[in-house]
Amino acid sequence: MTMSGLYLHIPFCLRKCPYCDFFSVPHRGTAVSDYVQSLAVDLQQSKKDWSGPISTLFFGGGTPSLLAPDDVARLLDLIDREYRFADDAEISLEANPGTLDLQKLAGYRAAGINRISIGLQSLDDNRLKLLGRLHDVETGLKGVHDARTAGFDNVSCDLMFAVPGQTPADLAADLDRLLDLQPEHIAVYGLTIEAGTSFAERQANGELTLPEEDEYVAAYRLLHERLSTAGYDHYEVSNFARTGKRCRHNQRYWQRLSVLGVGAGAHTFCADGWGSRWAIPNDLENYRAELQAGCNPARLIEKFDRQGAMIETLYLGLRTADGVDDVLFAKRFGCCVEEAFAQAVKRCRPQLQKIDGHWRFDLDGWLLFDTLILNFF
Ligand code: SF4
Repeated sequence: MTMSGLYLHIPFCLRKCPYCDFFSVPHRGTAVSDYVQSLAVDLQQSKKDWSGPISTLFFGGGTPSLLAPDDVARLLDLIDREYRFADDAEISLEANPGTLDLQKLAGYRAAGINRISIGLQSLDDNRLKLLGRLHDVETGLKGVHDARTAGFDNVSCDLMFAVPGQTPADLAADLDRLLDLQPEHIAVYGLTIEAGTSFAERQANGELTLPEEDEYVAAYRLLHERLSTAGYDHYEVSNFARTGKRCRHNQRYWQRLSVLGVGAGAHTFCADGWGSRWAIPNDLENYRAELQAGCNPARLIEKFDRQGAMIETLYLGLRTADGVDDVLFAKRFGCCVEEAFAQAVKRCRPQLQKIDGHWRFDLDGWLLFDTLILNFF
């Protein structure tokens, strides 16, 4: 199978953020560098089934910035040797500002990382404390400045909104400070309460109240307006980019293109046939043992039929400003969107429209995405 997208999962964090339900374990001793050995074995074994060249690579987590630059360099050398990078490959690494310094960033850049995604989350110390983050505002700003000094010209910043107690003026102040940094890319996330997290417990005890729906909507509109006015293209529900700086790796997911996921907790999408999804269980010990035994640690979790593939094409494509190209859809599935989903299309109007041959949600459609998309299932 050919894939030109590769994802490496780094499931370690210095400590757990109280709202997070991603798979990650506390980093202790040499856990991360030991894990790099497993990744290397996984990458070598995966070569039996997958081939490059690789045009996008993403180190996600967890906290990939716990990796030593030397380990990153070793992994990139191995990937280039085994799969080969395309000349213009996008190579991203997610970083937690609480784990960065100039030397590490310079090491990443020298190793070949050319896009860094920094989890600022907020530019207000009280909210960073509430979110249980490792860093304060000064450290976050320093992380971005150090990334520039280290030579990164493609910097993404994450920002959270709909945080308890956050007023529209607070969000506007966060945006002012964020825009001063002139990141090439911005990802925004509304805080949600996930089962099993410490925030879920605090919410159940009445100690934490999320903003009302109308406040969430107002915050999302504020983000859209401010960032669009500042020249960012709102190219996906949660993502904004300067021209030419969309995240090419994430675009592969929304376009249902193959991405090989390596590492405990990683997911793979294989586009062959109608598509299939695979996952490596969230179990570090098992991951290491299976690799040592020469087994493939990935499990098949979903094999799509034509109907499932059509639905997922819409589910993912309608998250993006490009939407779903009706001609390509018809070429792939033998019918256009309206033939396959006449009722759903009708129910999603007026937020869903076909413009220049592409089905697209407007901003209201994105705000109602979770409800509207159910019409297609
Ligand atoms: S650093 Fe990221 S992955 Fe780790 S616990 Fe916090 S939010 Fe989750």
